[in-house]
Formats: sequence, C-alpha cells, structure tokens
Amino acid sequence: MYGKCIVFDFDCTLTTRHWYYFLNDLNKFLEMYKNDPVIKGYQKDQLTMFRENILNNNTFDIAILINLFFGGYERIGKLTNLFSALKRYNYDMYISSRGISSQVSNALYKSGLYNYFTMIHTVLDGNLLFIQTGVTEKYLAPKNQFIYNKLFMEYNYRKLIYLDDTNDENLQLLYMLQGVKQSTNEYEYVMFSDREYYYVNGMMKDGSGIMDREIGIIYNIMNYKFGPETIGDVARTTRDVAVITRNVADIVDPFAWGFGRHHKGGGRYKIKYYY
Ligand SMILES: [Mg+2]
Repeated sequence: MYGKCIVFDFDCTLTTRHWYYFLNDLNKFLEMYKNDPVIKGYQKDQLTMFRENILNNNTFDIAILINLFFGGYERIGKLTNLFSALKRYNYDMYISSRGISSQVSNALYKSGLYNYFTMIHTVLDGNLLFIQTGVTEKYLAPKNQFIYNKLFMEYNYRKLIYLDDTNDENLQLLYMLQGVKQSTNEYEYVMFSDREYYYVNGMMKDGSGIMDREIGIIYNIMNYKFGPETIGDVARTTRDVAVITRNVADIVDPFAWGFGRHHKGGGRYKIKYYY
C-alpha cells in the first residue's frame, strides 16, 4: 500500500517567528526581531511572563502565542483549512524539527494544530508532559535521513511534500534521490522508482513561514478541488477522470475516488490515481 504524506519544519515554517530561539536563546531572538514592530508593540514584562509561563509549564496567554508565533487567528484558520484538506486527501502529516519536543508540542496543542499530526520528529527532552500520546519521535537522525529512511523506505510513502524555510536538507535529498528531476518556481520535484518528492520553493530562511503563496502551492501539488458544487469543478473533475482512466495501472485498497470525494470503505473498488 502506498500513501501520501507532508512534512513541515516547525520554526519559521509553521511558525511565523522563531519559537526555539524565543524559549532557548532569548538574546538571539531579540536581536533577530529588533526592528519588528509587532514584537515592539508588546510590553517587555508581558513577553517575559509569557515566556516563563511556557518554560515552567504554567498556563499562558494563548492570544500572544497565536499573534506572535502563528501569524494571528486568520492564518491559523488558513492552516486549519489546509490541514483538514490534507486529511480529506489522505495525507499523513509530520513535523520534523531540531526543536525541543515539549516546546514544539506545547505550541501545537495550544494553537489547536497538534491532533493533525501523525508524528512529531524533534529533539526529545526530559519533559514527559507532551510525549505521552505516542506520536512524538526522538530526533535520532537528520531530517533528510528521517525523510528518506523512515518515510520513504520504512513507511513506504509514494508521494511526499516537504516544507522548510532552510534549504539544506532539501539539497541533500535532491542529491540522494536519483531520478527524474524538475525545478519550477513553485517546487523541486524528483520522481525516483515509483515515488514522488516535492519541496516547496521560495520560502525565506528565518522568514515569516508558510503564507498564502505556499498554501496555494500545496493545494496545487495535491491537485485539490475547491467547491465541488461549481461548474468549473465538474469540468476539472471530468478531465481528471480522463487522466486517471488513461493512467490506471492497478486496483488498490487505500481509497476510493468519485467526483472529487473520497469514499472510505463500503466495498467499492478503489483506483490508484496519478497527478
Ligand atoms: Mg525552520
């Protein structure tokens, strides 16, 4: 069985500012954001208290978390829509980060994003509070090895999308994956054996993370169909059926396909589809 998955870096990919530095290297954080009007808009005491509450596992002001580190409630809404769409299209979701597991998990919990993830691949700390759900994986290997060895080889994913504001691990993967390569403004693509790797291009290192552009690229790579009731979508669906029919190679189990929706179970035969 072949599945699909998406891997997100955490700091400055899912977050809009550097969560790791904020908690673990405050001087570096303040230097990075010394000209940031939003950071300047907060009282120093307010930020200090917020930070200490997190480090001490106390309750903290979730609005500060959302506004400073997730780009506000509107962006959280867009991420939630995207994540729900990914789930509907049967993508498993992963975080791969050099961050500290309890700190990454805490931010994900409080922002309401935690439950979308199958596994959070981070540096494990001694704080067991956030690793009892069984989804936290110790950061045993660099991200490129996690993606290649664990996700492609062990879990056998056929299609994988990777987002990271730092390009280093992607460059290593592009080197490791021998196959047909393609580069566009939107993504790097490799097809090797029968697998597909996509890396979303153009994010700025230590920038403000996934924004509308990157969200749009992910929808494109998914071939996501918006608004199934519209005429345009019916047309696109028909074309997709033609493409699928031409490329059908085998009957497989994971999911059924029918006019843009997946039907789980129900004894239908399911086709493996290509896009
Ligand atoms: Mg990052």
